[in-house]
Amino acid sequence: MTLANDYSLLSDAARAFASGRRELFIDGEWRAPRAGRYRPVIDPSHGGAIAEVAEADAADVDDAVRAARRAFESGPWPAMRPHEREALMLKLAELIAAEAATIAQIETVNSGKLIQNTRLFDADFSVYTLRYMAGWATKLHGKTMELSVPYLPGARFSGFTRLQPLGVVAGITPWNVPLCEAVWKLAPVLATGCTIVLKPAEQTPLTTLRLAELCAEAGIPAGVVNVVTGSGAVAGAALVEHPGVDKINFTGSTEVGRIIAGSAGPRLKKYNLELGGKSPVVIAADADLGAAIPGAAWAILGNHGQNCCAGSRLYVHRSIFDKVVEGVAEIAASLKIGPGLDPSTGLGPMVSHAHRDRVLGYVERGVADGASLFFGGEAVDDPGAYLRPAIIVGARPTDAVVQEEIFGPVLVATPFDDMDGVMPQLNGTSFGLGASIWSRDFDLIEDFVDRVQAGTVWINNHNTLDLSLPFGGWKQSGVGHELGEEGLMSHLAIKAGVVRR
Ligand code: NAD
Repeated sequence: MTLANDYSLLSDAARAFASGRRELFIDGEWRAPRAGRYRPVIDPSHGGAIAEVAEADAADVDDAVRAARRAFESGPWPAMRPHEREALMLKLAELIAAEAATIAQIETVNSGKLIQNTRLFDADFSVYTLRYMAGWATKLHGKTMELSVPYLPGARFSGFTRLQPLGVVAGITPWNVPLCEAVWKLAPVLATGCTIVLKPAEQTPLTTLRLAELCAEAGIPAGVVNVVTGSGAVAGAALVEHPGVDKINFTGSTEVGRIIAGSAGPRLKKYNLELGGKSPVVIAADADLGAAIPGAAWAILGNHGQNCCAGSRLYVHRSIFDKVVEGVAEIAASLKIGPGLDPSTGLGPMVSHAHRDRVLGYVERGVADGASLFFGGEAVDDPGAYLRPAIIVGARPTDAVVQEEIFGPVLVATPFDDMDGVMPQLNGTSFGLGASIWSRDFDLIEDFVDRVQAGTVWINNHNTLDLSLPFGGWKQSGVGHELGEEGLMSHLAIKAGVVRR
């Protein structure tokens, strides 16, 4: 059996960009890496290389950061007024929208994600992000106020605050929503007048490189947006440690987030960390099961479970437990496994073979720890990185499958009797990213919202993100916020002023 992508479905532009060699994008131009090293880009639907990208080292990162700093301090960018930055962002949004289909195809062959998903969440959501943040560019303002200064009774003072761009931002992104994550890092940078060096994940560099090209086409000055591809341990670490970087905006695993905080802390750099999760989904006895069952299924199956907010822990009222778990398994079983480019596919490959094996390792470990496999949980016999989703029942709250982020389509289902009894389990992991409840009981919902420890809560839906809301994790799921006004403000330095009158 072979479930490889059919490349005849690609547009000419997608085929051209997703093949051959891609260099680093520094100071508005393509540059070969100083050490001359490249890494293959893999299509996980067959495991073979489709392209190669430059492998940046510390010297390349230094070039990129210096370019970003020059562009921040001199030349056309700092001289631009807010409405001009807004216009550039809208132009970039237009360019992405015009080639959304091609961008989605590039993303799909690089990541294994379904074409419907890359279109909606990588291409289209990137357009919305740029438009939303573009609107902010002209609406950033400080405040003025009368000051008291009580120890100088004879004098009068007024005060003001001024918002200024923070400087050079390092944007380090994961592989699960590659373009969208890059644009989430880029858009507030452009709106506030900062500059950026983007470092995409090793597995999925292609659309971030195309984004850089489109930035140049939109007229964004050289050096404002730079992209270095390469490993986290070398290029990522060099970026985090570079003295020319003022702020780190990182999305990825909690493990790497901890390394970054350890490096940024002593250097007193600003940072935002959007990290892992183990989000619970609660289905109460009174829930509308017609919505809750597919809701719970898609909470874990969406993007093949490779979502930071994936609903990987399902808690169902005991009276409806069997019905819900069987319903979720039916949906999982109905999905056609196949390549992401085929629009009839319901479940594509995982991002890589290594990740597929890691996910299946967790299923094995769950069973070894005493839980039962209710559905799926095995590799599909194919050269691609395919697996069947897994539903696990009977796990203990301390088991690894309950405590650790698997980042794949592995659901652990547990019955509960009442909210007081289940709340310690909902809050009983080190994560606190998202949580949802399915119910029609207002008091129960209010109680859940009050007590659950999560940066985002969803009521009768799961994983719905909107640009107007700040997105961030509690506990070990993150530090700070992305998106919304809060995400934007974290790119600004506040200067306070005192005027003697
Ligand atoms: P990862 O942490 O392995 O890598 C993320 C990025 O960090 C990559 O670009 C990688 O090259 C880089 N990196 C690795 N080591 C580094 C180092 N020492 N210094 C600097 N950079 C380094 O994560 P991943 O496997 O790419 O992505 C999956 C993880 O991302 C999951 O844990 C998921 O929950 C998380 N994620 C979180 C959110 C969120 O908003 N909270 C969103 C998407 C993904």
